[in-house]
Amino acid sequence: MTDSVKVGAEAIATKGWVKAHQWLILRRLSQLSILALFMISPLLVDRLERETWLVKGNLASSMTLDVLPLTDPHILLQAILAGVEPHQDAIIGVVIVILFYLLVGGRVYCSWVCPVNMVTDTADWLRRKLGFKSGTTISRSTRYWMLALTLILPLVTGSIVWELFNPVSMMFRGIVFGVGMAWVMVLGILLFDLLIARDGWCGRLCPVGAFYSLLGKKSVLQVVADKREQCDDCMDCFMVCPEAQVINPALKGAEKGLGPVISSSECTNCGRCIDVCAEDVFHFGTRFTHYKVIANGKESGPDATPKAHHFTDAA
Ligand code: SF4
Ligand code: SF4
Repeated sequence: MTDSVKVGAEAIATKGWVKAHQWLILRRLSQLSILALFMISPLLVDRLERETWLVKGNLASSMTLDVLPLTDPHILLQAILAGVEPHQDAIIGVVIVILFYLLVGGRVYCSWVCPVNMVTDTADWLRRKLGFKSGTTISRSTRYWMLALTLILPLVTGSIVWELFNPVSMMFRGIVFGVGMAWVMVLGILLFDLLIARDGWCGRLCPVGAFYSLLGKKSVLQVVADKREQCDDCMDCFMVCPEAQVINPALKGAEKGLGPVISSSECTNCGRCIDVCAEDVFHFGTRFTHYKVIANGKESGPDATPKAHHFTDAA
């Protein structure tokens, strides 16, 4: 196994620093641009005396350029369970969001939009740098129980209780509107992930991530280990993946006849496995692409028992 401090070093040496971080850079740009849009919109309205806001609202519910409503389906569901009758824009916004995440993978929200991801990624990076290996094991299914709780609470109380404590909403408010207490929550998550449980918040507890995971069960965009025969077992992908359990079936499942698509909806499509792989094993693909097996140099169907494991994109 690669020394934890040197994860990704081989990829940097082989591909160069930028290529070995390209999806990480794009994700950070995406997360920061979304926050920046919310922050500069009121300034633009004031300074330029414009009528139309670039983006109005927050991550729960927003309106872009007065024409594009976007609504978080988890929050709308809680509101409906609390007895709120949804506005037409909210329903249109939810349909748009659901269609988008059905296409690209529900947990793309986690890796490309959610600001908390920057905190948990930092904790994971610090863990590797400091060589922390220990921690409490919390079942990954706990987040689905947390999700159930967020839906039961509005039914019982008649209000969206979870949104008072939701770190995603709190951190967003903290950054965009400067709400002080949010930073206590953010620091708490950082320390929890660093000292108590690796990927403890996002991977084990967050009901928002659980909701988007369920939403993306049949998403089209998937990471594919389409060159898995090139894997040299350095384990770097497992070290950086926030949901490492999703990699093994696709990367090591050839003997069992499993295909190379990382089909678990818990994969966040973050692309870090693509970045850190010096052997270029992973790429973005689709769940519908037909990957033919080449056994002993002869092309055969996907159901054939693979003897040598080379996969070609046959779509
Ligand atoms: S699991 Fe929750 S906190 Fe973590 S990135 Fe996803 S939505 Fe954000
Ligand atoms: S498998 Fe790759 S894309 Fe999916 S969560 Fe892990 S590192 Fe990210």
